[in-house]
Amino acid sequence: MCGIVGFTGQQNAAPILLDGLKKLEYRGYDSAGIAVMCDAQISVNKVTGRIANLCERTKDGEAVPGTVGIGHTRWATHGAPTEENAHPHLSNDGRFAVVHNGIIENYIALREKLIKDGYHFDSETDTEVIVHLVERYYKGDMLEALIKTTNKLQGSYALGVICSEEPGKIYAAREASPLIIGVGADENYFASDVTALVNHTRNVIYLEDGEFAELSPDAVHVYDCLGKPVDKKVTRVLWDVQAAEKGGYEHFMLKEIMEQPAAVKATIAPRVKDGKIVFEELGITLPQLKKIRKIVITACGSAYYAGCAGKYAIEHLSKIPVEVELASELRYSDPLIDEHTLLVVISQSGETADTIAAMKECKARGAKSLAIVNVVGSTVAKLADYTVYTWAGPEIAVATTKGYTTQVTVLYMLALYFADMLDRVDDYSIRLKAIESLPRKIQQAIDINSHVQYLAQKYHGSKSLFFIGRNTDYATALEGSLKMKEISYLHAEAYAAGELKHGTIALIEDHQPVIALCCNPMIMEKTLSNIVEVKSRGAEVLALTFKNNQKILSVADDFMFIPDIDALFSAVIEIVPLQLLAYYVAKENGCDIDKPKNLAKSVTVE
Ligand code: GLU
Repeated sequence: MCGIVGFTGQQNAAPILLDGLKKLEYRGYDSAGIAVMCDAQISVNKVTGRIANLCERTKDGEAVPGTVGIGHTRWATHGAPTEENAHPHLSNDGRFAVVHNGIIENYIALREKLIKDGYHFDSETDTEVIVHLVERYYKGDMLEALIKTTNKLQGSYALGVICSEEPGKIYAAREASPLIIGVGADENYFASDVTALVNHTRNVIYLEDGEFAELSPDAVHVYDCLGKPVDKKVTRVLWDVQAAEKGGYEHFMLKEIMEQPAAVKATIAPRVKDGKIVFEELGITLPQLKKIRKIVITACGSAYYAGCAGKYAIEHLSKIPVEVELASELRYSDPLIDEHTLLVVISQSGETADTIAAMKECKARGAKSLAIVNVVGSTVAKLADYTVYTWAGPEIAVATTKGYTTQVTVLYMLALYFADMLDRVDDYSIRLKAIESLPRKIQQAIDINSHVQYLAQKYHGSKSLFFIGRNTDYATALEGSLKMKEISYLHAEAYAAGELKHGTIALIEDHQPVIALCCNPMIMEKTLSNIVEVKSRGAEVLALTFKNNQKILSVADDFMFIPDIDALFSAVIEIVPLQLLAYYVAKENGCDIDKPKNLAKSVTVE
């Protein structure tokens, strides 16, 4: 999920690898390392924390001789961010070193088999199985060893490999993780993105899923999954470094919105086996689950709204009552929480001060805690009895997008998982199919809302925006209005549509924009009446609904769309056009989208 670099040429590799890793720092990481080959010996240097520590350890690379090497920045997914778990990983015989970005989903089975066969493991990572498999399959032909190895892997990977018996060569492979080859003069490179390459060369080859590359100083060979040579086009990169960091997008936020199909897929896929949801990381037994009288979800900001969205699915499917509490309130509320409460704690960073405090308070009262966190080894993850990671990868923009959608996805999966354990669901496979369709439908939601940038031109000058919806639509409206506030600085409020006539409707006047979420067929007619109410008081209604929803289409002024989806799981799809709207409104208003004023990514103070 973070960074990989590789170099082979005439110059010392280590300084070039370090320079490449520095260029990848923006992607976020927790540890780093390099492996360099010199006289058929591989030397490895790894550190936790910053690349600066690796520079210090290796005297800016000068202390490490050798003209061939691979480097890595790690965003821990399996195993804490320690030096042992940092990459590169070495084979038992020291002949191979591997760096890996991504997740090997079947690593447990592979690890058990390798241990049985006499291999020993030095780390807790999923990655380490790869280097032992390469050692097992190497019979003098690296390409063959790599093909055999990757045939055993399920999941995602960008791999860099060196072998002490293959002087001057670096090898790469990719599946669902980015990897690019840089073609130089008498030297060649690979890296996770062009940022690490553009200082050296602008001639690149984009490796596709299932392809392998063999690089020496004077040649680049690419092969397909059967080992047949592939003719690749060399492309000239014209991006500047800043644009390259953002993958060509103008802002990290837009890049991260676009990454949501992949992030949600990475969150779901490893946890579905043979048509069943499997949470290997949860040790909750049926008797323990039966003892739970209520679930309390606690969090701050968007994570709190993720809880609001997930509540409907948990209650509807598992029939366990759910309360969603702001962590900053819960911690001082003398809460009625005991050993019959399951506390679900949500935090992207895992370092949110209020959330940690609320968690400690509830644990002291006997509750078991389940954390939904993105950062491995973070404080919340360590404090929790059970941790489920959202595999969103590092999120750079302060306003969360893929962090939120992956959190809600985990809640949906927990809802169905608990319901199934308690034998309270009879349409299990239909529900699971709906969850599995989320990544594809997020992509559709992105594709069918390209016109939102033009809507932003109409709405960006408004003094305030109202978001209305009922039930699941209301939960999404809360997050949609927060996105708008955070990055565009417009006043935006979400109201339960049924509450309008109890006060808010007094604020409706001519041309007041009202964003109406109508994606829940169960209460569609009710929301429709609310739309008519505000329209007859002069409001301008921008509706978010299904493409063919004639009733809404005939009353609203403007539209955003979502594809058909089970309403219980719709928040993950519905939020996408609202994220895009907030983004484009902020852009129209010239705001600093990735770093909004007064906000921090991880709120570590009360
Ligand atoms: N899953 C691997 C690990 O935890 C690689 C993580 C990454 O992509 O940085 O070590």
